[in-house]
Amino acid sequence: MLKIKDLTVKAGDKVILENFNLNVKNGEIVAIMGKNGSGKSTLCKALLNHPDYKKEGTIIFNEEDITDSKTEDIAKKGIYYLMQNPTEIEGVTNASYIKEARKARGIKEDVFTFNKELNKIIEETGIDKKYIHHNINERLSGGEKKKNELLGLYALNPSLILLDELDSGLDIDSLKNISQAILKYKEKTNASIIIITHHDSILSYIKPDIVHVIWDKNIKLSGDYTLAEKIEKQGFSWTINMTRSDNNE
Ligand code: ADP
Ligand code: MG
Repeated sequence: MLKIKDLTVKAGDKVILENFNLNVKNGEIVAIMGKNGSGKSTLCKALLNHPDYKKEGTIIFNEEDITDSKTEDIAKKGIYYLMQNPTEIEGVTNASYIKEARKARGIKEDVFTFNKELNKIIEETGIDKKYIHHNINERLSGGEKKKNELLGLYALNPSLILLDELDSGLDIDSLKNISQAILKYKEKTNASIIIITHHDSILSYIKPDIVHVIWDKNIKLSGDYTLAEKIEKQGFSWTINMTRSDNNE
């Protein structure tokens, strides 16, 4: 469903990813690990065609070239980015955002149906009803913001979810609850998930089918879940001597 081919990403003159390749299949859960500053968030932003980055290479999503598509069009095609630090949006309530998001995804519904769907979304995400007319993420803690972002996930009905450091700022119970809500969504829709992380706690809740390690602008190593456990114990430095051909691909 997602094919990234020979992707090079630059911010100004700085090359952040170089000749990066990644395939994600339908329903697959892929973990991307790498130390701070290795380019994980940049990968997400490049996928979404963030204007700060220059790209070479191609990004194919569901057989369509989205390399140069507008960010909002990429979202409409079904890629959802759960940001590392979700932003506060003044003047836009969750309810109006959900309404617009559903419209953008081509869902036509009257007020009655919308309210019914809204209640369903609240129930599925476990979000307190009082937040529904709250401005998006306004004055929420880091963890509450991530929980609030689940509304967007359920409203936009994506087929690919990018979880950027979901675990950062979340206590163990919140991480577990949010992971469960994401897994519930995945079971319902067979969406694919890319989990960006630098340690394995989230991976114990959302088990990846494959783990890739970014080092020096590219994936240097891939393996199963045990690779994440090894990194948790030994850190990232030992991966520097590995090349992608050393691994089990
Ligand atoms: P990670 O998410 O793996 O911690 P990032 O993708 O955020 O890393 O950043 C990778 C590197 O690229 C860092 O050195 C960061 O400072 C740099 N970088 C990211 N975005 C920009 C930008 N817009 N302008 C300049 N440098 C950037
Ligand atoms: Mg990051």
